[in-house]
Amino acid sequence: MRAVVKPGMHGEELLKQIYFYHARIQENAHLINIKYCVGDSTANRFGRTRFLPSSAYNMLDSIFHWPIDPNRPESGICPVVVVGHARSNVFSILSRTLGIGLWCNRNQAGLASLAYMNGFQYRDPHTACNDAAMTLFCAIQMVLPAHLKPANGEDGKNPYTALGIRSLQDIIDDIEVSSKSQAWSFGTDKFCIRCGRKSHLHFVSKKQKCSFKVKYEHCAVSQKEDLQKAARGHITKNCIFFALRGPEVAVSEEDVATGLGQVILKD
Ligand SMILES: [Zn+2]
Ligand SMILES: [Zn+2]
Repeated sequence: MRAVVKPGMHGEELLKQIYFYHARIQENAHLINIKYCVGDSTANRFGRTRFLPSSAYNMLDSIFHWPIDPNRPESGICPVVVVGHARSNVFSILSRTLGIGLWCNRNQAGLASLAYMNGFQYRDPHTACNDAAMTLFCAIQMVLPAHLKPANGEDGKNPYTALGIRSLQDIIDDIEVSSKSQAWSFGTDKFCIRCGRKSHLHFVSKKQKCSFKVKYEHCAVSQKEDLQKAARGHITKNCIFFALRGPEVAVSEEDVATGLGQVILKD
């Protein structure tokens, strides 16, 4: 995000400067959180999703090292401000991973309330990039002077439409669309959490989904009928039961190789 001369109403000019990255880690992309913090990792609304191996630290390095002027490296890198809500653990993990010091107070504000207070919809939460985007929108609204953020009416609608002043929601809707053209190159844009191939996504629509034959050894020999059925749904290393139970069903390297070897073309 780069500085602008005038932020515009609702900070539109600033908001348009935001660059979005939605990175999913290949090794655990199949582990969908269905219990404690339910979200849909395919429901990202901002920027593009790409799949990276867990070894791709250079991506993190890169996004924290944007040059102020690419033609003058001596001018240094853009300052980094880490913004979050309910951040207690996140900040300590980031500090350790990046080797930098981050300050954090203990105010645990919920993102749904923040979005409501700032007059925009809290949509598809708990998808990482959506939460990051909505948090940043709130942060920008908080620092804008009052005359740049006219409130919605009591009906929740923008009372200034006739004056040509757009609501924050209108601006966010536009950003959702325009950010889809933001390209970035780490990893791959496709990765199948069912068969592990990088040529397609697991599920695009009911008519368009992975049809490669796969089989999971441990589920295939399970005594439980539902696990036997599930065995055709994923390869060994992408087994959620394996991930949930850990050592109880730990697979050897050989077993993993067997599971992968059984991924075969339908025809
Ligand atoms: Zn597949
Ligand atoms: Zn399984």
